[in-house]
Amino acid sequence: MTDAEVAALDAADPLAHFRDAFELPEGLIYLDGNSLGPLPKATRVRLSEVVAGEWGRSLIRGWNDHDWIGAPRRVGAKLAPLIGAESDEVICADSTSANIYKLAVAAMQARPGRAMVLSEPGDFPTDLYMLEGAVRTLGEGRRLELREGSEIEAALSPDVALLVLCHAHYKTARIRDMVRLTAAAQAVGALVLWDLSHSAGVLDVDLNGANADLAVGCGYKYLNGGPGAPAFLFVARRHQADLVSPLSGWMGHAAPFDFPDAYAPAEGIGRFACGTPPILGLAALECGVELTARAGKSALRAKAGLLTDLFIRRVEAGPAGGELALATPRETAERGGHVSWRHPDAFAIVQAMIARGVIGDFRAPDIARFGFSPMPLSFAETARAADILGEVVSTRAYDDPRYRQRSAVT
Ligand SMILES: *Cc1c(COP(=O)(O)O)cnc(C)c1O
Repeated sequence: MTDAEVAALDAADPLAHFRDAFELPEGLIYLDGNSLGPLPKATRVRLSEVVAGEWGRSLIRGWNDHDWIGAPRRVGAKLAPLIGAESDEVICADSTSANIYKLAVAAMQARPGRAMVLSEPGDFPTDLYMLEGAVRTLGEGRRLELREGSEIEAALSPDVALLVLCHAHYKTARIRDMVRLTAAAQAVGALVLWDLSHSAGVLDVDLNGANADLAVGCGYKYLNGGPGAPAFLFVARRHQADLVSPLSGWMGHAAPFDFPDAYAPAEGIGRFACGTPPILGLAALECGVELTARAGKSALRAKAGLLTDLFIRRVEAGPAGGELALATPRETAERGGHVSWRHPDAFAIVQAMIARGVIGDFRAPDIARFGFSPMPLSFAETARAADILGEVVSTRAYDDPRYRQRSAVT
């Protein structure tokens, strides 16, 4: 693709104006919005309002006067259209890890007599760790079994209580067929829990179109909610009355301010809340979600496809094309918003790119991963990043020892 063609893509980009909604350091090409989304300008303004105006002046009255108490459901309702859910099916609460635990235990308890939770190996580890913990909590012979993606359907049996899958793989970006796998699991009477951490805010997710049961996802990736932002969870309306959170905290109680001794779950999605909501975190998440919802999931998905296509083609046609192995599906429709390359020196390559103003990330043992957040990124930046990757790899610039020092977070 020529530079003129790249410029034409930018000129025709319906999301181009969203770039100005973010604060990004001058000259930096940020290809890590899939790990930590950049700072929306609105968030800085809103957070100082919430801190100084709401907390500072309203104090405890803020729970009513500024509807802090409604924030988990309000932000969930704003997020719902991005994942094909109804506004009363989503709540923002806790972390993705905690939400997996809550929904997995609730789902297993709703399927008594079925011993197995089925998932796949090699996806994001916290999901499997939380499932291990959920199975251990319940005991009674429950077990977690892992099968490669191609063997999932064959492993579905009447002994499966719950199937847990990531929609877009955190390393490879490969997308699982939500419609088909949901139907296959439901055909044996199992529930399905989808992890949308690498899908929400970048893909055209349609939970209700897929008749999905349960889902969780991350607030700080493509939703731009800020570091450690609250996560979200989805429970299809038809299941809400039958599932009870094992973390039965007072904020999920039917009448928390009656202060009764016994737990009684709230009606609806509110029962999946646990403790007091983090208002500052939710305020930042609300800004990120509002911005993302304004762009809309179809436009986001379309641009993510074009950006990743451009990056793959430009790298492969460049000087390092033969040295980097594409770890991401080549078919646009089969991949999410990031592109991964395998290389034995992936860690040093990512460090050398960072030194040249392109931030991506490394995923052990050999993946260099680059995320293409559709709102802040341009096609010109994407082409430039591909050229820098080509230069770093083909000249072996990554061989410098200073690119081999590892920090705690990679
Ligand atoms: C990012 C991510 C998480 C993050 O979980 P936290 O509880 O926020 O640390 C979980 N699962 C997947 C698949 C992810 O991509």
